[in-house]
Amino acid sequence: MSQTHQEQYSLIIEDCSLLTGEGQILPHQDIAVRDSRIAWIGLHRSDERVMADQRIDGSRTLAIAGLIDAHTHISQQLMRGILTNEYPVLYLRFNLPFERNLTAQEMQVSAELASLEMIRSGITSFADAGSEYIEQILPVLSSSGLRGALSRPTSDIGEHLPAGSLNRIEDALKINEDLYHRVKAEGGGLLDFFFQFRSARSCSPALITAMVDMAHQHDAGIHAHISEYPESTLYSLSEFGMREIAYLDSIEALGDNVLAAHCIHLSEGDINILAKRNVNVVHCPRSNLGKGITKTPQLLSSGVSVGFGTDGSAHAGLNLFREMTAFKYSQAAAWGAPYLDYQVANPKILMQMLFSGGARALRREHQIGSLEVGKEADIALINLDKPHILPTYNLLNTLVETVDISDITDLFVAGKALMRNRCVLTLDEEGIQYRAKKASEVMKSRMNWT
Ligand SMILES: [Zn+2]
Repeated sequence: MSQTHQEQYSLIIEDCSLLTGEGQILPHQDIAVRDSRIAWIGLHRSDERVMADQRIDGSRTLAIAGLIDAHTHISQQLMRGILTNEYPVLYLRFNLPFERNLTAQEMQVSAELASLEMIRSGITSFADAGSEYIEQILPVLSSSGLRGALSRPTSDIGEHLPAGSLNRIEDALKINEDLYHRVKAEGGGLLDFFFQFRSARSCSPALITAMVDMAHQHDAGIHAHISEYPESTLYSLSEFGMREIAYLDSIEALGDNVLAAHCIHLSEGDINILAKRNVNVVHCPRSNLGKGITKTPQLLSSGVSVGFGTDGSAHAGLNLFREMTAFKYSQAAAWGAPYLDYQVANPKILMQMLFSGGARALRREHQIGSLEVGKEADIALINLDKPHILPTYNLLNTLVETVDISDITDLFVAGKALMRNRCVLTLDEEGIQYRAKKASEVMKSRMNWT
């Protein structure tokens, strides 16, 4: 008698539509997860020998890889609504003074609320541009179940920065190295630590070089704000006689481990350097559009990887679909319509940026950014049964035009459910909302932002 061959999985999402890494949508697919990874994908089958601890009916859903916010600011979560229509330079006038004022406890609340908003926004992975009190927020981030790359604000020059923002180089190295080991030890494989230099405007060449060397020693990533404000290019020109990116390249700061947030004001020479050094660019469209229009078609055609970030909740929330649509239409206005080129920022390009650009920026392209066998089971399910989604002639086009984060019902990281039917399972939603409102009131009056 032949032996029955059984397959055992921890989770099966049955009969869903599935967005592939190439931007195709396949109907009637099953996704089978074993432990943290995707173990099998194929046409829906009803087979008694396929066993699963949990089965989800995906017949009304589109499964996509979890969204990746490749540049956020957890420490600015409690300053929502301050920046709208304000004059530059925003980070000097608002963001940095706010961050410097946070207590450890407020930072914890900030991390709780950021995690909650991320999960409800379909984000499974994030890169944080720098938070104080990392020791205090580690337990919060670990219990959220999110995947992320943390970093610490690091600067050593500039009278323009608030008191207490500057580190001596030796101190910065020690603090960052300790945090690197701590996050690695306590992050459960989901949390990473990137070294950082905040920007070329606020870090000496010696600090930048020291942080870059430290990152190489540990085979770690580097997170930096690059070419965000015109001031940073003007500063590099007056101080070093070179544009910002040429200057950073001259001190060997650029490489394939660098996550370069923004990159707005670029020359052709800058783009060539970013391509040659395999730098991972991250645009934050809604924040960037207040400062300029990115040359993304030129970056992409030069082979530069580009992902999306939100720039944190203070810049209009953690909604990557809105970032993507703001990007799509602004790019079409800048580089499409004037040249009658209607393929600028087309849906396949957008999907490539949203997923593979983000995964590369987090240095996890082998693990995340697409639904395929062997990759981590970071999955978002979108409820398609909505009047603004179905029926459609082309679901991919509709995905980039009308689907919003509130259509995401279920979210998994490494095969573990963080949200089911829009209920967050890993965090206490009500408690966090209560604590966040309280903390925000205190911050408002302390900052005189009443
Ligand atoms: Zn930023």
